[in-house]
This record gives sequence, structure tokens and C-alpha cells, in this order.
Amino acid sequence: MARLVLKFGGTSVGDVDRIKAAAQRVKRIRDAGNSVAVVVSAMSGATNQLDKWVRDTARIHDPREYDVVASTGEQVTIGLLAIALQDIGVPARSWMGWQIPVRTNDAHASARILDIRGDTLLRHMEQGEVPVIAGFQGVTQAGRVTTLGRGGSDTTAVAIAAAIKADRCDIYTDVDGVYTTDPRIVAKARKLDKITYEEMLEMASLGAKVLQTRSVEMAMNHRVRVQVLSSFNDAPGTLVVDEDEIVEKEIVSGIAYSRDEAKITLRKVPDRPGVAATVFGKLAEADINVDMIVQNTSQDSTYTDITFTVKRTDSDRALMVLQSVKSAVGFAELDSDPRVAKVSVIGVGMRSHAGVAQRMFAALGSRGINIQVISTSEIKVSVLIDEEYTELALRSLHSAYGLDAA
Ligand code: ASP
Ligand code: MG
Repeated sequence: MARLVLKFGGTSVGDVDRIKAAAQRVKRIRDAGNSVAVVVSAMSGATNQLDKWVRDTARIHDPREYDVVASTGEQVTIGLLAIALQDIGVPARSWMGWQIPVRTNDAHASARILDIRGDTLLRHMEQGEVPVIAGFQGVTQAGRVTTLGRGGSDTTAVAIAAAIKADRCDIYTDVDGVYTTDPRIVAKARKLDKITYEEMLEMASLGAKVLQTRSVEMAMNHRVRVQVLSSFNDAPGTLVVDEDEIVEKEIVSGIAYSRDEAKITLRKVPDRPGVAATVFGKLAEADINVDMIVQNTSQDSTYTDITFTVKRTDSDRALMVLQSVKSAVGFAELDSDPRVAKVSVIGVGMRSHAGVAQRMFAALGSRGINIQVISTSEIKVSVLIDEEYTELALRSLHSAYGLDAA
């Protein structure tokens, strides 16, 4: 017998039939002798609709009231799922975030969970009841309702699992796990049986949108075992676990990509101390995140070029900020290119193997794909390439690292 948190995402509670199917699954898992708590999202599309209503009412609005509206989608699904469970003989009770309570800070619309009391939920579970908990929402010290940012019900589920010391947190979604790369692009992509927290964090933040990045951080910090699986079939999913649980470590586990980057280059920047601090300081002040950065060593210590990437949606703003410091910094030209993509190979096995980056460069080179910027971390090598070659790059790398399905 295990203690489990089961989380159902938007498509898994997308209509009344899906909610009844979720109830049947909860019953099966409970009948097998497990003790379960359930976390749900709003019905798919519901939060978008709520969000739109708020924006249509007033484009600029009080985020506290945004949260009051946005959090209601989950109230509907907890009530319906509790009813569906009761209807098939499973004792169930709905829980709003404030009733548990899920305490958060007061960063409305992207609040962070501070702590969750697990004891009340556990008491109910011990009596055989299934708590059905609203994801995505919490409550501040002052008693106001908050939401955790889009996709936040994953984070609720992991946080609840940590609070009640669950053996595992199962995230039911519409894909059957985490793949070596995007299966819509690479037909030979394989479902991974296991992936480490660190790899998943890289995959999640690089655009494999299966789990909210914050939920993976939370799982890693609290050592919560997470499984990503489909609510549309009974196949086992992908386990996200500690490195120690993975006996045979792949050198490269996955290849991620992101098309929402833009490249910016400052040409003929004076090569003197403080220049980078000014440039990136101004961008930081404007709340623009910079990702990859390269600076050349100048030939004669007079001028250098600086190239970096920002989110594509931030690119116009970044250019404005940079124009405003042109005379202070003294660069000659400012170029930007939005047609770039970042492709990354990820794997904890890289720590102990040489030649991983070389194999990437060779695979791209043999296909005539030019590398514009390179960045690395302990478990990742990323390159920036022309967006047009994204699919070719993914397919070539997938083969080069032996990831293709048989
Ligand atoms: N309902 C929220 C959203 O659509 C939270 C979630 O589904 O995880 O973002
Ligand atoms: Mg989601």
C-alpha cells in the first residue's frame, strides 16, 4: 500500500465524461489498497476564458482581483470530481486552497507556496476519505486568494505530496510521458522510463512543456518522486527521480529546443571594464532576462563584439533599452535576429564523459548547420542556430546520440 497524490490536468477533467473517467481511475487505485489525495486543474480552456474576461473588463487591473477570478476554474472541478467519486461509492471531499491552507506569499498571479499543513488532509485520508484539492491556488497571510502562475496546479500537486509525505505524485496529462525529444518533429522519439530531476528541469525550462518548471524545482528540493503519465490509457509513464535511482545513466537523455529566442549583437564595443555591467545592468532593470552570452577577445584591446539572446517577445524592448545607452557605452552598431532557435542536448552522464559537445558539433557540421552561439553547463550543451534548421538539427542529433527508437 502506498500513499499517492494523483493530479489530473485540464484535458483529463475537460468535460463531465472525463471527470467521471478520472473518478473511476481514482477508485481503481484506491481499491488496490492505496491511500490517495487528488489535485485537479480547471477544465481545459477554462482558465484562458477567465483570464480573457478579466482583460476584457480592464486591460490594467488589480492582480488581487485577477486571482479571485482566475482561481474559480479549479473550484468547479473539485466539486464535480468529489460528486463523481461519491456517486460511485468513494467517500470524497473537496478542498479549496484556503481551506487546507496552502499558504503563499502575496505575489498575486505568480505566488509562491510558503507552506502547507499536511495534518488535516492526512487525518481525513486515514478515515478513508479522498481529499480533492484545487490546484493553482493559495492564500496569503492576510487571507487573500492567490494563484501560482499558469500551469501552477503541477506545483500544488508536488507541494501536497511533500506535505503529506506521499510515496509518489502521479501527474495525469494528455501525453504518456517525457520523450527524448518532441515526437511531433522526430518520429523516432522514445518515451523515457526515468529521468533525473536535473534533466527534467532543463527539459522543462527549455520548452518541453509537460510540467511547470517550478513543480520540478519543488520535487527536486523535497525529493518527491513524480510520474508523468496519460489519463487516456493505462501505460506506465516517465518517472522523475533522484539520480541514485537510475542505474544505467544515458550520456544524453534528451534534446530540447526553443524557438522563442532572439539574438542581439553589439558591434565595436569599447574593450574596457564596466561595459558588460552597464549593458546587462540596464537590461536587468528593464526586467529583461538574458540567456546565452558571448564576448570575443579583442585583437588589439580596443574593441570587441558582444552577442546574447533574449526572449523573442522581449527583443524590441531590449533594443530600445540598448539604444538609450548607446552613447554611454559607445558601441558602433546594434544588430538583431529573431529567426534563431536554441537546441540543447541534456544528460547527467555528460559529467563523466568526454566528447559530448564534439559529437553535437560534428553532427550539425555534417548537415551544413552553422552554430552561432554555444553555451554549456555541467549537464547541457546548447547551440543557437538558424531557426529554419531546427527540425533537421533535432533529427540529426537524435540519431547521433543513439536515441532513435528501433
Ligand atoms: N488552470 C491553471 C492554468 O490553466 C492551472 C493549471 O492548469 O495548472 O494555468
Ligand atoms: Mg499543465
